Parts: sequence; structure tokens; C-alpha cells
Amino acid sequence: MRIAILGSAAGGGFPQWNCNCRNCHSLRAGSFCGKGRTQTQVAVSNDGRAWFLLNASPDLRLQIERTPELQPRSGVRDSPIAGVLLTSADIDQIAGLLSLRELQPFRIYSSPSLQRILREDNSVFGMLNRVPQQASWMEIALEGTFPLLTMAGDPSGICCEVFSLGNKYPKYVSAERAATLKAEEALLGVMVTASSGGRLAYLPAVPAIDDRLLQLLETADLVLFDGTFWSDDELIQVQGSGATAREMGHVPLSGSDASLQALAGLRRPRKVFVHVNNTNPMLDESSPEYRQVGTAGWEVAEDGWSFNL
Ligand SMILES: [Zn+2]
Repeated sequence: MRIAILGSAAGGGFPQWNCNCRNCHSLRAGSFCGKGRTQTQVAVSNDGRAWFLLNASPDLRLQIERTPELQPRSGVRDSPIAGVLLTSADIDQIAGLLSLRELQPFRIYSSPSLQRILREDNSVFGMLNRVPQQASWMEIALEGTFPLLTMAGDPSGICCEVFSLGNKYPKYVSAERAATLKAEEALLGVMVTASSGGRLAYLPAVPAIDDRLLQLLETADLVLFDGTFWSDDELIQVQGSGATAREMGHVPLSGSDASLQALAGLRRPRKVFVHVNNTNPMLDESSPEYRQVGTAGWEVAEDGWSFNL
């Protein structure tokens, strides 16, 4: 299975349009020791022909243009993208669907609750179903595995298993609406298994880490994990106010009960942070934080990286 990292930053990207933090400022000034990044986007393919997007980032159009494997191959209208698997209704995980509205058939795999938010509450996504044979919405359940299908409806060789990571819907979903949805479908992680047996655990947003999650991650060959914030009060330090990382649904990397410590026991998988916020000091490759992550056996994903499992 080929795994392509098309984007590796958190919502807003790096640099973020309205951000003048130390990282964003010095990246724009050309003095930053590190790389810019588009918003997190991963694509997987078992055979190099049918590709599946894990979520759909606001930067998707640019990311497809940077990735020849995802571009049309024959005919006037064509795409190797056979499907999109959604793990949450966050804007930076779904906005890219609107860049796929040009009447191209593909499948959208999501929980029933997520599908209701997109199709019943947000009429703009109706553009994905203007004609028959456009987007096919596939409901996925929290138990059991399901195959990702090629456009012809054949198994692609990739099977997925989704699991609940949290119960908070994005802020644009009202409390009244959320009460009509299943709380456990608000935020999912996904285990993606290739025909080779290789396993990718994809978790771009993780509010907390427990033993059950640790055991699951130990069965993976590659873990792409929430690297949004270095410290719990990172945004408050930069902006002078705001929410903590944990309040925003992201376990930070540093501190007690944080991800570097909680995941230190993982032995089997290769460990890579994705969804890195532009304020995170580990983006600076000359920083002690970047060195600390490397010493702990982690890598910080960059746009354009790929893996084979
Ligand atoms: Zn910034």
C-alpha cells in the first residue's frame, strides 16, 4: 500500500493567512529553519491505480496538482480518486469535498451522523449530488471492517476499521443538533489495512490516550498521529488568550499524560506526527523541541512524504 502525505499542517496551514507568530513570521521572511506545509491530507492506494483520500483538506486542489498519481489519466474527465473517508466534520477535514464537485463519481465513506451534518444541515454539499452517478455516500459502522471499493465496485485491496476517539462535534454543530446525533460518531480514528497485511493507523485529532488506544496502535506498522500542539497552553502563550490544546480536542506532545510520554512504550510502528499547528515549536528544525521529538523516536511529517506498507 502506498501512503502519500499531501499535507501535514493543522487547520490554517503553515504559514496561516492571518498569523504573524514567530514561526509564520520567520517562514515568510525566509529565515525559518524548516518547511512550510499545507493542511493535513493523506491519500492511500493498494495498487497505485485506485486512490482514496483520508479526509478532504481545504488545500486539496493544490495538493492534487502537486501529485501526478492523483491526476486524470485518460479521457476528458477522469480521476484516480475513487473515494474519500471522513473521520470528523471539522472544516479542515471536509472543505476539500467542495473542490471535488465537478460531477465526477466517487464514494464518500462516513459515519451516519457525519453524513447527516453534511447532507441535511449544509446545503452547499448538495453540489456533490447534482446528477445521478455523482457522489455515493457510504455509511460506516464503528464495529467491524469494511472494504474501500474501486469505482467499478470491486474491492481495492484496502480494508478499514474505524473507532471512536471523542464525542465533541465542531462548534458549527449546535448543541441541539448534536443531541440528535450519536456522540461516539463525532471523531473517529481509522486503521487502514493493505492486502500485504501492512497497517496504517491514522489519527490526526486525538483528545486523549488510553490503554485501549495504545494496544491498537501497537498493532500498526505506521502511526500518523495528532501533532497539533507542543504544549497545552501554546495558543494562549502566542495570542494572550484562547483555548487550551485539550479544550480544542488535541492532546499536546509535552507535559504529563501528553503524547510523547503516553506513547513512549510503542515498539512496533514507525511513528510520525501530522496535523502540526503553525505555532508548534517543533516545526523549527534548529529547536530543542524538534531534537526532543527525534530522540523520542518520532518524525515530523512534511508535505510530499510517502510510505509503502
Ligand atoms: Zn503562526
